Amino acid sequence: MPLDPPPEQKGQATSVLTPNRLVCRSCQFILTDQPRRIRRQGQCQFVLANPFGLLFEIELYAQLFALPLGPPSSEFTWFPGYCWQVLMCPGCNQHLGWFFSRSDDAFWALIRSRIQILSY
Ligand SMILES: [Zn+2]
Repeated sequence: MPLDPPPEQKGQATSVLTPNRLVCRSCQFILTDQPRRIRRQGQCQFVLANPFGLLFEIELYAQLFALPLGPPSSEFTWFPGYCWQVLMCPGCNQHLGWFFSRSDDAFWALIRSRIQILSY
């Protein structure tokens, strides 16, 4: 299996004109056809640990074709002031990441090893 190349390596100059989509790596469910990474706290990638000590390498994205699961929780939140909800893949039900929201902002934090960007 090829290693995940950083999206930046795929044609910087033409990236605006090259459609691509963000999919679940397991089942290729299309999470969005306009992947847009966003920054919070100055970064779009983080390595963070959950309360059990499990490390997650996450990337932040704007809108997805998905809905978060369960009620928002502020317990152990990685982004102060934001509540989180879990994102399960609508295609294969794998845990793909989290949805973070507060009254004036929201974004998705996706687990890098479980997603993939495809060009088409
Ligand atoms: Zn899936």
